[in-house]
Amino acid sequence: MEVLPTKADLLASLADRKGVPRVLVPTMGALHRGHTSLFDRAREVAGKDGVVIATLFVNPVQFGPHEDFDAYPRPLEADLEKCRARGVDLVFAPSADEVYAADRSVAVTENRLSTTLCGASRPGHFDGVCTVVAKFFALIRPDAAIFGEKDYQQLAVIRRLVRDLDFPVRILAAPTVREDDGLALSSRNRYLDSAQRAAAPVLARSLHEVAAGIASGTLPGPTEARQAFLDHFAAAAPARLDYFAMVDAATLEPLVDFAGQTPRLLAAAFFGQTRLIDNVGLPGDKALPLLLGPS
Ligand code: AMP
Repeated sequence: MEVLPTKADLLASLADRKGVPRVLVPTMGALHRGHTSLFDRAREVAGKDGVVIATLFVNPVQFGPHEDFDAYPRPLEADLEKCRARGVDLVFAPSADEVYAADRSVAVTENRLSTTLCGASRPGHFDGVCTVVAKFFALIRPDAAIFGEKDYQQLAVIRRLVRDLDFPVRILAAPTVREDDGLALSSRNRYLDSAQRAAAPVLARSLHEVAAGIASGTLPGPTEARQAFLDHFAAAAPARLDYFAMVDAATLEPLVDFAGQTPRLLAAAFFGQTRLIDNVGLPGDKALPLLLGPS
């Protein structure tokens, strides 16, 4: 495995590996089983002779001024060990100065899907995500890139980026990896104290309960479903809900009724200072990849 800190190193290494599939997994490091499941998927897609490239980069421009950029964990050696163990070929781990010119003046903005949900709570976040992902696509020119459904809005925004700017890269979605109690794995889970950690699975549980109720017809419309979500979520005494939304799985437009729709349920909540997100489709819902593109 090669660890590449500069763009020049990366380009030189890629130049030696022409003519084989390239599959990219962008991450911010602090790797867990969610990330390593993406590496495994990348290997399946790349094949044994292809190149699996991971990026480890805590992207400053996707953090708001009062967010956790400085505190975000950066366990580089442990991350490299995990990459090595999963058969990643190239790790691009640049500094912020290497990625961004001090006087940079171009950014990428997605203006529609980014405005709601996490985009409403985190202004500028998806501009930062789109900008860094566009830069990595331009540098690496992958055939495919793997993103987790855990960050569902991000996945939809990246698909839109690729469609609207004609990047020749297939965006593939990987399912959310969870703890045994349902909590979605996240690098931010390590911020939780024991009471918050004990409460955190309520986010996933509430989403799953509501999804099951919609699928079975016991929650016939968004009004009943919202109330049911709030009732379940109230069990997490120390948590504060940021949002709960029921949207069309492809467009992220809010649903006014469920008939003939493919709902996706998304929520974000604060456990202390830590903001966690999660989302689910309906049980047995196979429509997602078709609606969002090939997978
Ligand atoms: P991050 O390091 O948080 O930027 O995440 C890098 C990639 O890993 C993104 O595509 C995430 O959606 C994905 N990811 C994060 N957590 C999970 C998880 N629990 N299951 C699957 N994918 C995940």
